[in-house]
Amino acid sequence: MPFVPNSLEARDVAGLVHPYTNLAKHAENGPLVIDRGEGIHVWDTDGKQYIEGVAGLWCASLGYGETELVKAATAQMEKLAFGHLFQSRSHGPAIELAEKLKSLAPCETARVFFVGDGSSANDTAIKLIWYYNNAIGRPEKKKIIGRLKAYHGVTVASASVTGLTHNHLDWDLPLKGFLHTDCPHHYREALPGESEDDFVDRIIGNLERLIHKVGPETVAAFFAEPIQGAGGLIVPPQNYFPRLQAVLKKHDILLVADEVITGFLRTGNYWGCQTVDMQPDMVTCAKALSSAYLPIGAVTIPSFMHEAMVEQSRKIGTFGHGNTYSGHPVCAAVALRTLQIYEERNLLEHVRGLIPRFQQRLAALASHPLVGEARLGAGLMGGVELVADKAAKTAFDPKLTVGMKALLACQEQGLMIRAVGDVAILCPPLIITEPQIDEMFDRLKAALDGLEL
Ligand code: PLP
Repeated sequence: MPFVPNSLEARDVAGLVHPYTNLAKHAENGPLVIDRGEGIHVWDTDGKQYIEGVAGLWCASLGYGETELVKAATAQMEKLAFGHLFQSRSHGPAIELAEKLKSLAPCETARVFFVGDGSSANDTAIKLIWYYNNAIGRPEKKKIIGRLKAYHGVTVASASVTGLTHNHLDWDLPLKGFLHTDCPHHYREALPGESEDDFVDRIIGNLERLIHKVGPETVAAFFAEPIQGAGGLIVPPQNYFPRLQAVLKKHDILLVADEVITGFLRTGNYWGCQTVDMQPDMVTCAKALSSAYLPIGAVTIPSFMHEAMVEQSRKIGTFGHGNTYSGHPVCAAVALRTLQIYEERNLLEHVRGLIPRFQQRLAALASHPLVGEARLGAGLMGGVELVADKAAKTAFDPKLTVGMKALLACQEQGLMIRAVGDVAILCPPLIITEPQIDEMFDRLKAALDGLEL
């Protein structure tokens, strides 16, 4: 497509590399340039309005234009625009935010380490686990297990624990010592006629065999999203995590809950792990921690790990890890204000009140001729898997890029969705209202009805 010289489109194509984009197609088709946002809506540069059905990238939980967050950022920038935590320096916003997260964490938490995003949170968690096992004299206990279709980010280590082909293919990943086990998705992964219980028995059995094969004394940790997001919105069977945890406990393997998209009310509880009966040793989070207004993520650290870290750094002379922006004061101030707003506006009750309508509208799409499975997800996240043959669950040929076509059809209808393969995903700002939920699903249904394949 020829672009108007000097237009934003032309300048975009000339200047940017876009994440998770077919770069060749992008060079031909150009970008959709978004100009502004207000509440659950965004507008492109032609003035077309869209419902932001995925809260940006599962993150803008308070929607757009939240003046309280603008005020918090401005006030902190004016007072202390930058401060760091290296070599015992500190500042109020990081101290307060650490206290707040300790009080909210779903597992015993002695300390909090701040990073800039979800990938770095998982990367840091992996490094801390390695450091811990070295500190307590178990240098061989280092392997990390993730799951197929899991998404934990793009740094070398977080992409290694990720279980998606496109994050490994031609990236020389995963690194040695990263293993993958089954994805707990009954619809796609169960054998014909296999009940949920039998499915869980089988995949937990596979995990135990994997642990025995490599030696339990070499396995340090298991990473899991309570609900797998970027792998296609996958909720595990009810008894999956309790069964999994029993195996991990037996072999002294830590469980890390990646709450990067499920944290902060999304699933109808404060944390996703509370929704799926998961009891982690550590939590990583980001995104809705600041409602995505500024980049910040965090890792919670249990007492036993912190005590070992203290001793190890005494021995070495320092704790050799840290980012310039760990606990950045402006990001921390905005995150603190975000967490206060969740409480002040009783957003948890608001979300819980909306879940029945969201789930009902999602479930209604199950009867659509293109929908193989309505992924009810949990809380205000869900999706629909589009299939070529409903009864046989036959997927479309990936070359048809049906998910991408659905995304473009939704855009036509004024709705932003996320397409993961052929799964169309919704994860709207938590401030959405019931009439807006109806409007969002009306637009999705109109897009699916008009989809030309
Ligand atoms: N973990 C999960 C579960 C995610 O969904 C994501 C991003 O979507 C990440 C980690 C990586 O976060 P970031 O993109 O902020 O690095």
